Amino acid sequence: MRIQGLMLDLDGTISEVGEAIPGAIDALRRLREAGLPLRFVTNTTCRPRRDVLQRLRALGVEATMDELFTTTTAAVAWLIDRGIRRIAPCVADATKEDFAEFEFDEKQPQAVVVGDLGSAWTHDNLNAAFRQVLDGAELVALQKGRYWISEQGLTLDAGAWIAAIEYAASVTAHVVGKPNREFFEAAVASMGLSIDTVAMVGDDIINDVDGAQRAGAMGILVRTGKFRQDALDRSGVKPDLIVDSLADLPDRMGTVPIL
Ligand SMILES: [Mg+2]
Repeated sequence: MRIQGLMLDLDGTISEVGEAIPGAIDALRRLREAGLPLRFVTNTTCRPRRDVLQRLRALGVEATMDELFTTTTAAVAWLIDRGIRRIAPCVADATKEDFAEFEFDEKQPQAVVVGDLGSAWTHDNLNAAFRQVLDGAELVALQKGRYWISEQGLTLDAGAWIAAIEYAASVTAHVVGKPNREFFEAAVASMGLSIDTVAMVGDDIINDVDGAQRAGAMGILVRTGKFRQDALDRSGVKPDLIVDSLADLPDRMGTVPIL
């Protein structure tokens, strides 16, 4: 059996600090020409879907909105499933448009939705989220990444701040982005494929590779973006394939061992 479809991470896999990784765009074109459906599955929380798609297209990737799976897609589905109407969005201002169907309520929210605020994290906004959770709101994490690679180098991600709220309030956040199984399942279902015929390609050994493998997909690791050999060694995770870059993937597709 061959791989029937691919899920692809964006930051560190297709692009790095806003620039396409050399050869990545051409590789995506070749994978499409080979007939593979592609889904772009990103944990980015600092911009809305519309903006993520625009940036992808500006890089030269002919992607459509239906092919894009962001953490806000997953959060909206999670909130609707549970009948939640009132939320306190602790996300970048730009990202709030993805939650336009909900009522924003800082006083009595049913859920606090937390994304990455980057340098806008303050004691005040952490404290507000902590108090809302203590008052009974669900803590919904768009993602819980440890770090990502920015212009400054490796940079604290939302997970570090969410862990602070969890610790103080003695709760566990519901993480809706990668590595949540349902997030991968939604992307795979949109391709009409069985998850064991799909591979996730990414630079994050835990959120991309391990998460996808636990969901029943294959995990392909790229040695770009945040990849560090010591992080791979420490993780105990065994990717189904490791490539130097997405650029190398079209030529390596036949080498993935699938039973
Ligand atoms: Mg990444």
